Amino acid sequence: MGKVLVIGCGGVAQVAIQKCAQNDAVFDEICIASRTVSKCDDLKKKIEAEGKSRSKITTAKVNADSVDELIALIKSVKPDVVLNLALPYQDLTIMDACLACGVHYVDSANYEPEDTEDPKWRAIYEKRCKELGFTAYFDYSWQWAYQKKYKDAGITAILGTGFDPGVTSVFSAYALKHYFDEIHTIDILDCNGGDHGYPFATNFNPEINLREVSANGSYWENGHWVETKPMEIKREYNFEQVGMKDMYLLHHEEIESLAKNIPGVKRIRFFMTFGQSYLTHMKCLENVGMLRTDTVMFEGKEIVPIQFLKALLPDPASLGPRTVGKTNIGCIYTGIKDGKKRAIKIYNVCDHQECYKEVGSQAISYTTGVPAMIGTMMVMTGQWKGAGVFNVEEFDPDPYMEALNKWGLPWVVDENPVMVD
Ligand code: NDP
Repeated sequence: MGKVLVIGCGGVAQVAIQKCAQNDAVFDEICIASRTVSKCDDLKKKIEAEGKSRSKITTAKVNADSVDELIALIKSVKPDVVLNLALPYQDLTIMDACLACGVHYVDSANYEPEDTEDPKWRAIYEKRCKELGFTAYFDYSWQWAYQKKYKDAGITAILGTGFDPGVTSVFSAYALKHYFDEIHTIDILDCNGGDHGYPFATNFNPEINLREVSANGSYWENGHWVETKPMEIKREYNFEQVGMKDMYLLHHEEIESLAKNIPGVKRIRFFMTFGQSYLTHMKCLENVGMLRTDTVMFEGKEIVPIQFLKALLPDPASLGPRTVGKTNIGCIYTGIKDGKKRAIKIYNVCDHQECYKEVGSQAISYTTGVPAMIGTMMVMTGQWKGAGVFNVEEFDPDPYMEALNKWGLPWVVDENPVMVD
């Protein structure tokens, strides 16, 4: 049917690319590109050695910080869709290149600058903190600003098709379409009950992960943001197939888009589970300055502490063989249907070792990589169509929900869920 160019070949991309190759009726051709082309070549060899896919796979070298390099690559590959699974830092350069070439764009995380000390970015950020009331480094304003340009060019940008954001956002559209006349509250619960056996490691890119969880928390209530100290709000929850876990309120990017796209929603919160050991390690690293994102001089060389830490920590892509246990990620909704109050939970349970057996990755990469393939498939097949910049909850959720069942992330609707107080 068509050709996808995937930028990035890290933990998430490796799953997404293998799922594209499984779905060879849709993805005739897959080009994998990043700065380290040897990693892309290794994945190409792995898929070809398995001999199960008819997709043609090619690889290329690109530095996605350069719009010119990206344009040259897109012009030579001629993809129908570019799937951005590099880092949030590259979102805008890749969006610019897609715009210049008239090609659809899909990603899994919203824009965040690499250099948070950049005065030009900082001025806009500080104004936004004051006006909107949340201090996270990432927000959708940068990418939503492309709406008119993408509309005028007649191309589609789909933002945030991972699990959260992504599946949790599609769950919300599905709940609204089939279970509610009005949704009043959304609690997004992200539980990783997996154990990799290391004293400390992150399940996806350490820099992005640690920036996210060490930041202030926040939630949306009655039309505005309420900000909390990091890890200030803690709850316990008994997760199906995982058990009782501590979870903490975090700021998360889908809160921003759901507040805009789910009419009448009064409160949206996001909770993620963390063990005490993870939190103690993180606090200690933060206290000694290892989570700093600015540049410091070390023996005559500039280094960014969090990037140095990333080099020391286990590569998330290497956790696959050693991680056991399950993830349980989903959303609890309350609201009104036919004049009566209602509450439901929609969730997926994913087993780390099952993922490893299928694609050689742990469940965090799997639960992000599968929806990245599905979102790209929605655009490639024309099931999701429109000129402009969209979050996934703005489209018909039904074909995406069906695809989740088919491609490895089956979901359950619980009409009598345990609530979070
Ligand atoms: P990794 O760090 O494992 O991989 C990142 C990849 O991006 C690498 O292959 C790297 O390759 C490539 N890359 C980085 N910089 C550049 C550049 N300048 N040019 C070209 N390629 C580049 O990250 P993950 O796979 O863990 O995460 C990928 C994305 O998924 C992130 O944006 C993350 O935030 C998002 N994510 C989303 C989730 C969701 O549920 N929505 C959950 C988890 C992650 P190289 O160094 O060779 O260039």
